[in-house]
Amino acid sequence: MAELKNEFSWSKSRAETFSACPRQYFYRYYGSWGGWDRKANPKTRTTYILKQLQTRQQWVGATVHNGLRWALATLRDTGAAPAEETTLNALGKRLALDFQNSGEGLYWDEPKKMCGLIEHEYDELEVSDEAWSALFEGALASINAFYHSEIFEKLRTLPADQWVEVEKLGSFDVDGVKVWVQLDCAFWAESNLHIIDWKTGRTDVDSTKMQLALYTWYASKQWNVAPENIVSGEFNLGTNELFTHPFTANDFQSVHERIAKSVAAMRELLDDAVANAATEENFPLAETNTPCATCAFRRICPRWATPIEAME
Ligand code: SF4
Repeated sequence: MAELKNEFSWSKSRAETFSACPRQYFYRYYGSWGGWDRKANPKTRTTYILKQLQTRQQWVGATVHNGLRWALATLRDTGAAPAEETTLNALGKRLALDFQNSGEGLYWDEPKKMCGLIEHEYDELEVSDEAWSALFEGALASINAFYHSEIFEKLRTLPADQWVEVEKLGSFDVDGVKVWVQLDCAFWAESNLHIIDWKTGRTDVDSTKMQLALYTWYASKQWNVAPENIVSGEFNLGTNELFTHPFTANDFQSVHERIAKSVAAMRELLDDAVANAATEENFPLAETNTPCATCAFRRICPRWATPIEAME
């Protein structure tokens, strides 16, 4: 098998990690590379395992997304969505199993298969039983909100040939850089292409607009649709609100400029941009401790670290 190469690429979440803390970015995209091999050196293996950890909010958001993807894919493929109770049961079981596996620390042996949460990995980040219960209830309420939303009503009666995508990873080229996107749901209705992004937590208006503009730009290129015929929106499963925003080619230009600036800042810290080679010390720690509260790499970061030899 050909050797895997760590290719440089860009995504909104990659850019957000870099802005929050360049060192965290290094651990996630460079320091963990090759750590899937159990025989990798201990630091690489540890970094790789830590990279799989999620905050409780990321975990619940991803699990709800997976539940919706399953429900919508079933609806698209069979013409009928699973009953709400079936989806709620599946979600409840998944959350309970993940929570148990994470609490037992099984991710240290099977990092890709077993869920790991930073709140279980780091004693100082432990949260109360009440906070966990509120999180589970919020996840179930999100599924309930979806099943009773106008969006679901629309999708339920959508002809099979009007579905476009359900949570599929896609990419497009921007100045020679692969830019990743993942549209939660895309479909045709009333001669427009509709793109919907599900949100389970709080949202930031600027970040949402940037994300939707990026999706719209991708969709416009991917399916050759004029921007005025694309309706992009974010459906908040917590508040049952749909936020839509119209975009024009000018917005694409502004996204283009933001990506170019972000790519340049990331590449500036590399040893060799062509080879995509990086050295840990060249990636500074976050200026404040704020991003550390949700960072998976505290165990190896010099600001908080346990020496790696002490972990062996
Ligand atoms: S613990 Fe803080 S300083 Fe260290 S990598 Fe994470 S966010 Fe950066």
